[in-house]
Amino acid sequence: MRKPRLMTPGPAPVPEEVLLELARPVIHHRSAEAKAVITEVAAGLKEVLQTQNDVMILTASGTGAMEAAAVNTVPPGSKALVLNAGHFAARWADICKAFGINAVSLDTEWGQPVDPTQVANALKQHPDTVCVMGTLSETSTGTGHPVEAIGKVVAATDAVFAVDGISGVGAMECRTDAWGIDILCVGSQKALMLPPGLAFVSVSPKAWAKIDAFESHSFYFNLKSARKKMKEFDTPFTPAHTLILALRASLKRIKEEGIENVWNRHKRMSDACQAGVQALGLELFSARPAEGLTAFRVPQGFKDSDIRNRLVERFGITTVGGQGKLKGQIVRVGHMGYTDEIDVVAGLAALEMVLSDLGFDIEPGCAVTAAQQVLIGQKTVASR
Ligand SMILES: *Cc1c(COP(=O)(O)O)cnc(C)c1O
Repeated sequence: MRKPRLMTPGPAPVPEEVLLELARPVIHHRSAEAKAVITEVAAGLKEVLQTQNDVMILTASGTGAMEAAAVNTVPPGSKALVLNAGHFAARWADICKAFGINAVSLDTEWGQPVDPTQVANALKQHPDTVCVMGTLSETSTGTGHPVEAIGKVVAATDAVFAVDGISGVGAMECRTDAWGIDILCVGSQKALMLPPGLAFVSVSPKAWAKIDAFESHSFYFNLKSARKKMKEFDTPFTPAHTLILALRASLKRIKEEGIENVWNRHKRMSDACQAGVQALGLELFSARPAEGLTAFRVPQGFKDSDIRNRLVERFGITTVGGQGKLKGQIVRVGHMGYTDEIDVVAGLAALEMVLSDLGFDIEPGCAVTAAQQVLIGQKTVASR
């Protein structure tokens, strides 16, 4: 018997009561019931995103929200500053290219956090920047970027700050309004405990001014149309409304726990996972780890696929490897959303056994012990 355990940084596990919502008969998407659900989730999303801004619901994967942010905000030929520090940040540049936006790339070494001072300098050099495009949690490297500090820098300029919070929101602290995030992009299948298929975009008044200043050539992802309909708790097209019903259930769970407690739980899981991995003598990939996943370097002489395949074969645990230039170099373990401390402890126990099977010299229990020491407060992890 193998119990399937999804320990990937998206899609991530979905709670039972959320899955059960998806088994109910389909209702009509323009019914009073559907409108009531959208009304309820609109309020819940504002709480999770910590914003008073409009939050639009798009039927798309997370990338749809990024595309909406770019194409509605930056006219073709205008400039965007991409805080390029990983595979997903690079997607901002790809989207810009697809829409004729002049993307200036501020490159940061993968695994390192973006430096807010460099953002300030780049904006001085490029005062005509319309939008700064950054990432809260760079899933390809397991890095959490200093979005609050970058937000301060961008807020002092005419540019708006668009943040890919797809794997970060619901896993790590993110205060949209207080941090000066003008556009926040979120996907359903990461820490929000849903299957893939929905994306959420919050838009600040500063960003609406840019959006209203030109006619975007986007049709399906037109944010003006989405705003108009959202005022009536409706959507321009048929949404994946069965997922919106499921969203109501997952938001209820977040509300019951409290968003700050949700962040704290992820911080504890992240600290415990890091301590465990390091106790095995493995090296964390990121200099500033994100809280919804942990990335570690594949030890010398081992293959990432051997580790990951064995985790699946012996324990039903799915993890992911590196993307792009990190292929084969790292293993990434998700601990976001419907995940608790004991899942992390179990994951580390499995990792110990798998590494031992593969001939890696370890003392069984050392990762588990280190994680437990963090979880019971005997050991603290250097703050970041
Ligand atoms: C998952 C992810 C994306 C891509 O989202 P899709 O839902 O696959 O379109 C983008 N950015 C980050 C940081 C992600 O984690």
